[in-house]
Amino acid sequence: MKALKEKIISEGKVLSDTVLKVDTFLNHQIDPQLMQAIGKEFAKRFSDAPITKIVTIESSGIAPATMAGLEMQLPVVFARKRKSLTLSSNLYTATVYSFTKQESNDISISKNMIEKDDVILLIDDFLANGQALKGLYDLVKQAGADIAGAGIVIEKGFQSGGEKIREAGIRVESLAIIDSLSNGQIRFREENITR
Ligand code: 5GP
Repeated sequence: MKALKEKIISEGKVLSDTVLKVDTFLNHQIDPQLMQAIGKEFAKRFSDAPITKIVTIESSGIAPATMAGLEMQLPVVFARKRKSLTLSSNLYTATVYSFTKQESNDISISKNMIEKDDVILLIDDFLANGQALKGLYDLVKQAGADIAGAGIVIEKGFQSGGEKIREAGIRVESLAIIDSLSNGQIRFREENITR
């Protein structure tokens, strides 16, 4: 997605060979126009799937997921992160190891948010090692619902998540795939926009 890649080039900060900071439009400040375009792009890419609901994870997945939900006229549920979950019979829970925070967190969704006959589109801001997406996948599977695929804003193609999740048979649509952040340079897969 051209507008997204241009934004990454102009505002993204390469923090290391593995971490990209995009807090001027995605992870802290939000660019609503760009988010709207991202929502439309997800809607277009998944227009062939009989999706009934979008599931994401707080906090940075919420903006792109909401814009996709608006475009697709579907409800959006976000999994909540909690330090320790008190025992509850009304929650689906999964443990997610955070790549950026280097710690494990339980994520949860209230059982009444997903029905067995739902077809779910998962959305998240980044795909790195695939832990967040796997956690969301686990929650939806606990509910017995189907997964149409995953929409990712930025996939870091040099980390293992994308390959693992595609190998597991899940359709992944990433709007920008970064092949390398080496030497402070952002290199995209396909069109080679560099700076
Ligand atoms: P994964 O679970 O796939 O290893 O990592 C995905 C999650 O970690 C995303 O939800 C995102 O919040 C965070 N993340 C992973 N890599 C990056 C990165 O390079 N930059 C930022 N800002 N977040 C990242």
